[in-house]
Amino acid sequence: MKSSPQNSKLRIAPKIAVAGAGVMGLSAAHALRQFDVTVFDAGRENSASAMAGGMLAPWAEIEHLPQNFLDAAVEGIALWEKILGSLDEKIEFHCNGSLIVAHKDDEYILERLAAKLPQQKIIGAEKIAALEPSLSRFTSGLYLKDEAHTNPQQVLNALAASVIHIQENADIKALHKKFDYVIDCRGFAAAKDDKDLRGVKGEIVIVRNKDFALSRPVRLAHPRYPLYIVPRPDNVFMIGATLVESADNAVTVKSALELLSAAFSLHPSFAEAEILNIQAGIRPAYPDNLPRITIEDNIIRCNGLFRHGFLLAPVMAACVADFIAGKQNNFISLFRSENDDHHHQRPAQKRQLRA
Ligand SMILES: Cc1cc2nc3c(=O)[nH]c(=O)nc-3n(C[C@H](O)[C@H](O)[C@H](O)COP(=O)(O)OP(=O)(O)OC[C@H]3O[C@@H](n4cnc5c(N)ncnc54)[C@H](O)[C@@H]3O)c2cc1C
Repeated sequence: MKSSPQNSKLRIAPKIAVAGAGVMGLSAAHALRQFDVTVFDAGRENSASAMAGGMLAPWAEIEHLPQNFLDAAVEGIALWEKILGSLDEKIEFHCNGSLIVAHKDDEYILERLAAKLPQQKIIGAEKIAALEPSLSRFTSGLYLKDEAHTNPQQVLNALAASVIHIQENADIKALHKKFDYVIDCRGFAAAKDDKDLRGVKGEIVIVRNKDFALSRPVRLAHPRYPLYIVPRPDNVFMIGATLVESADNAVTVKSALELLSAAFSLHPSFAEAEILNIQAGIRPAYPDNLPRITIEDNIIRCNGLFRHGFLLAPVMAACVADFIAGKQNNFISLFRSENDDHHHQRPAQKRQLRA
């Protein structure tokens, strides 16, 4: 957000360029709004952020997110509540928790998850039916009551409208000379300058199913075809997502069949659902699948948000804003690779075939 002419006369605020208007860039621009910020974007329609489920799910992601990120993730949910509450537009933000269910033969996966989450208890058929009547056929589940979800398209549109938005490619080297700080949030597009960054494809199917209803995201625990379903307004559901080590964004027949079969196994009404869209997004990821803030001269790179861009972007954005303002932020050490060599020491997480 540009400072007003009146402010600019007295301006001591640094001039900041944000490259990329995915969830990371827009969160950064929002956190930095007291400064003189210009956002550059190459077109966010196919960004990872535009494909995301919008789940704010630290506990359901416990097999993908180390325990020491939990506090930051919980902070991420609190920050979204604050950010979205501060916008003029009303944005979907639901704190209804999330539910993980499993077919009878796969209940051991729920037990494995529950063992990692001692405060969460396995629930039975009655409680599942009370939470989600459409899932009354399931007899075992994990209810993660403090999780939340939002609607990524609404969030991105509202945040983009609240910052100056320049529709063009940013040349980081040129910006570095013109601005006091450059916040590089180009997602996977930054891989050409960052050899550690890779793309991990996530394929999704969007359907309308008038005979099914959910009040919260639901995950199906399965050894080969785990999936999640995120409810959107008007009986629309996002079914996702694959986790494929590839940066090409084509959706394969195999993936589409698997996602749709898994949805059908969750509830037979998906056989008659209307397919609205099939898409893929490329998650930016580092070898340890953890996000990083890298500071080099006046360029601050925020990348590698992998499966947790919505969950962690506002926390990383607050770290960047505090760093520029010269304030202490206790979460920054989680994301820094220079000062904190955990990124180099931690073994790469086992790559799995599905999300
Ligand atoms: C299918 C799927 C589901 C997901 N679900 C969830 C979820 O439920 N919860 C969650 O927390 N995370 C989820 N994620 C992960 C999350 O979407 C990503 O971690 C996050 O979107 C990464 O955001 P980003 O801003 O770093 O990158 P991106 O979203 O890729 O944004 C990068 C932006 O930079 C722009 N750009 C590129 N080059 C330039 C340039 N030279 N100049 C200017 N702009 C440029 C691009 O146009 C783009 O708009 C999901 C991801 C996928 C693929």
